[in-house]
Amino acid sequence: MSKATAPLTVIFPERLIECGGYALGIDVGGTKMLAGLVTSDGDVLHTWRQETSRKDVLNGILNFLDDVLASLEPLEKEMLVGIGVSTAGRVNWHSGVVEYATPNLPGWSGTHVKEILIRSFRLPVCVDNDGNAAAYGEYWCGSGQSVPNLAVLTLGTGVGGGIVLGGQVIRGSRGGGGELGHLVIEKDGRPCNCGQRGCLEAYASGTALAARAKECGIWENPTSYTVFEAAEKGHQIAQRLIEELCEGLALGILNIINFTDPDLILLGGGLSSTGESWLPLLRQKVGEHLGEKSKNLEGKKFWNPETVQLAQLGEQAGMIGAAGEVLARFGFSGFQNI
Ligand SMILES: [Zn+2]
Repeated sequence: MSKATAPLTVIFPERLIECGGYALGIDVGGTKMLAGLVTSDGDVLHTWRQETSRKDVLNGILNFLDDVLASLEPLEKEMLVGIGVSTAGRVNWHSGVVEYATPNLPGWSGTHVKEILIRSFRLPVCVDNDGNAAAYGEYWCGSGQSVPNLAVLTLGTGVGGGIVLGGQVIRGSRGGGGELGHLVIEKDGRPCNCGQRGCLEAYASGTALAARAKECGIWENPTSYTVFEAAEKGHQIAQRLIEELCEGLALGILNIINFTDPDLILLGGGLSSTGESWLPLLRQKVGEHLGEKSKNLEGKKFWNPETVQLAQLGEQAGMIGAAGEVLARFGFSGFQNI
């Protein structure tokens, strides 16, 4: 059995009683799993991380959760409301089945995650797409705490997304709603992993940026961070590539604004760590696309560029959101049902 790392933070049990219950959130990505013990106030008490098993994703998760649960104090176990899973891929929220996962998670497609975890751990379980979970996390206790309507774009290897409207995550009939990375921003555009062409993910992901950098033939095996670093140093081609990325992202954001008119559009995921340097350009491009629509009847600005912000919870957004979804569904008072 694999060994989970020791908890990174600990607080006294009295605090747990005050918190009134907590949930275990786990975010399953293509390379790593992040678990956290989260209170109903959204405080993260402990975190654990482990590499995702490339050979057997499900057993890797079960072993990881075994270790995590075994490391909890008796009182912590007693206060546990359930387990929330945030995972890459298309998830049926109702059945808790992963209906499609990329080859990054071999064998994960078709897995009845909810049923298997309930049987294994005898606890309530929620399973959600990582973009939805991140959106709920930011709404619950991140940048979106003060607003009812927001969209989150997670910019990493791919582009994930989630929408919260009126405090509810928009999942659609089967849980496939809010896939903002697959908004089409160019007719017959670049091919996407999902089978469509011209998806936002094919323009605004780290993979897309690295591929464009490779086409330029200047850098050897460039990553997205090669481009960001070069742009910081004034490399003109790198700056042009980031402008291209912002252009694609601006079109995606334009669609989100027209579709949902959110209070906030939050940018999370690995690429957002470089966001301070390109956020002003992105906001400018969104404003240019909106044009006259960005003004109200008095000719004043209707759309505020500050609507686009960097997300707060970083890599913990999906984990915290998944825990929050369990607490909202099965936990103590103070939550609305989801
Ligand atoms: Zn796509």
